[in-house]
Amino acid sequence: MLSIFVETSCNRYNRDECEFCHVYEPLMEHPVSEWHLTVQQAQVMADKIQNVEALNSLAQQEINLTGGEASQNPDIVEISKVFQSVTPHVCLHTNLDILSKKSQRWQRLVELMERDVRIDITLYPTAWERSQKYFLEEMLKLQSKLIVNVVFESLADLQNQIGLLLNFFQNKSFIHVTELLQSYAEKVAILIEKHPNCDEKLFTVIMGDTEAFANKPEYIFGISLLPAFSIDKNGYREMTSLPFPRDRYLIGCPAARGSIDIMTVQQNGEMTPCCDVGNLKCQPKFGNILQDSPKEIMGKMEGSMKILASGISKNHENIKSGRAGEQVEEGIPPYCS
Ligand code: SF4
Repeated sequence: MLSIFVETSCNRYNRDECEFCHVYEPLMEHPVSEWHLTVQQAQVMADKIQNVEALNSLAQQEINLTGGEASQNPDIVEISKVFQSVTPHVCLHTNLDILSKKSQRWQRLVELMERDVRIDITLYPTAWERSQKYFLEEMLKLQSKLIVNVVFESLADLQNQIGLLLNFFQNKSFIHVTELLQSYAEKVAILIEKHPNCDEKLFTVIMGDTEAFANKPEYIFGISLLPAFSIDKNGYREMTSLPFPRDRYLIGCPAARGSIDIMTVQQNGEMTPCCDVGNLKCQPKFGNILQDSPKEIMGKMEGSMKILASGISKNHENIKSGRAGEQVEEGIPPYCS
């Protein structure tokens, strides 16, 4: 998947969550005049994608438009058309925190769904009752697929969020979706009752075999559970997640093993071959899709994959010899393995 940042602004700015949001620091560097990715920039990106095989094959899996709040971009419909000329699989991620059906953001989302762009959401319990629940109901009329990101700070928080989804889908005719959510709810309830302070390993063992998708022709539902992380005042992400504070969170780096499975494209064009949005401060560069030629991008990818492999091998040695957390000269985060 190619994950492309198309918008810096977010309608949730100035609220208490902002400083802890993982994209707050990387995005706040953008001047207001560059908050919206332009159609012209999208076209430059699309042309490069088609001329760099590694990017094109990711795009054929999916291009995910994100931000900030992607629906805040006034040109998002035109931008999605540009990317749809590269791949039929274009989706957009939204917080669905919308005031009314008259909102331009909602009008854009409707137009996108009509153009077969899948709209996915991150669940926000604070926005659920006043906004997300109502607009999710409306989305059911407009698209037959959905992926929900559930970012959780604790097992109780996860239980609450699964409960919101379960209650929502229980009144609908999608039994396969409620069965999937019920299975999540039961497993989380067992964890809370028997292992309330479990580590991530036990959590993964108990949740491990649960499907991520409930797939029937009439409705495809996907759910992605993501532990939340604290972000320090300099924008660095903590090494342990909030729900499992005793475990160092290790990130597998496919690029270090010679495989590019995902590419995050920041709004300034910088690319990283994982889901990091800039707050892991990884130094090896994979090229700038706006500024570099296809040949330069391919050269940087090749060189940086070797640097990552070398740095990851040193991280492994550090972890084995009790020096986990030490920075290596390759400039990669110490928790990448
Ligand atoms: S080493 Fe860099 S590219 Fe690899 S997973 Fe870590 S942050 Fe991402």
